[in-house]
Amino acid sequence: MIDRLLEMFHFDFLHLGRSKRLRLPIELVPSPLWGRSLSHFSGEDDRTREIWGKIRGVELTRTGGRCEVCAEKAEVVHEKWEYDDEHWLQRLTGFEVLCRPCSNVHHLGFSIKTGAGSEVFERFVRINALSRNEAERLMKEAFELWEKRSAGRWMQDFGFLSQNAERYGLTADDLAHLEVVVRNAGKGLSGDQAYHEAVESELLRVPLIGYARAAILTEAGIRTVRELEEADPEVLRSNPAVAKSRDPSFPIQLPMVVEYARAVHEERVIVDGELALPPPDSVLVDLEYDPERSFVFVVGVMMPGGEVKQWFSENEKQEREAVEELIALCSKNTCTGYSLYSADLPTLSKSAARHGLSIEGLRFFDVFYDVLFTENPRRQRVYLPLKDMGLKSVSEFFGYREPPDIVIRDGLAALIAFYRFLRTKDMGIKEQILKYNRYDLERTALVLKELARLSKDWEKSTAWRQRE
Ligand SMILES: [Zn+2]
Repeated sequence: MIDRLLEMFHFDFLHLGRSKRLRLPIELVPSPLWGRSLSHFSGEDDRTREIWGKIRGVELTRTGGRCEVCAEKAEVVHEKWEYDDEHWLQRLTGFEVLCRPCSNVHHLGFSIKTGAGSEVFERFVRINALSRNEAERLMKEAFELWEKRSAGRWMQDFGFLSQNAERYGLTADDLAHLEVVVRNAGKGLSGDQAYHEAVESELLRVPLIGYARAAILTEAGIRTVRELEEADPEVLRSNPAVAKSRDPSFPIQLPMVVEYARAVHEERVIVDGELALPPPDSVLVDLEYDPERSFVFVVGVMMPGGEVKQWFSENEKQEREAVEELIALCSKNTCTGYSLYSADLPTLSKSAARHGLSIEGLRFFDVFYDVLFTENPRRQRVYLPLKDMGLKSVSEFFGYREPPDIVIRDGLAALIAFYRFLRTKDMGIKEQILKYNRYDLERTALVLKELARLSKDWEKSTAWRQRE
């Protein structure tokens, strides 16, 4: 059974990969253009942040918060670029909604720098169904092209935004503002010495640090994770390089950045206060769904005692019953999930609305956004030494080992399997889908258990540190 499933998946991937272009190509951005993207510019000022927020909102809604490549929960709105090598012109052609691991494949060069190269290469091989030889050849080609392009003096074309202004709710003022930001950001950044050093910087291993921030820190005289760990956020804040930066949240996030640096350098978790965790009677939730039609085919929950309940839906009627069960549960208990806010909830909300139901007023808790990666110094209490804080990476960091019988490893495989099940009614396929859903609940439960342990031991470890 498992062999047959594997064979069928492989066939699908082959078909998708070879007949068109690669599902997930390596897209290395020429170095003079590093940091010159809308997502980077959004740190320039509140207005640009708002504009980027509108675009992100429209794109995330378009895919129901799912990665367009593997259907996992999305975190990244990736800018798609076209390169006119004759005129050194980089043109924005649209956006792709991605999960962090898939986004890392596009930026394989960056992943290699942050030490995640081999893992990301594995994903590149698997998702595109390539042989290792082919994959290595493609990678070599991508790096050769990158080197050639990196020698150029590039210009950028954001015309796509004015052509699609209505779709993203962008006003003429928004567009004019962006033009100024893009023009100003072009100065200084790519020709800057500190920027070139930042590209090689080990500071990129620290969460919240991208190229632009690494360049600011380099200019402020901080080059290593160790130096960052020992920096005083207050002193750093008044350093001219930081003070003049156009990244308003950077000074605010500096205390967090220093804590993350300590976690990365010491390769351990730092906890600096009691964690705000979900109540003990909280129900864990994970949904599997088709983002295109917001159809939820698995509602999986883990009850406070550890019992797992799953509702598998083949049709609208079953889906309605499953969503009703979930709404009933979440109106009594807090429902907790991982990256719930950006992925499951938007879809659940749409699915509920289709059945004349509503999820308004229900209590939800998101382990990722509420605890692990709040980006807010007033709320952040725990610092993991990980750049990738997706559920897979974090649960494996805390000791989760994937069971050997797993066939479905990501949301895309689950989605393909679901439609195959509808055609074949093969109960083995259904079983695999439910298993995948159950394992994600187990991963979340393990992460929560470890966080609770860390929270409890917090005072002990502080006392110990003070005695030293
Ligand atoms: Zn993905």
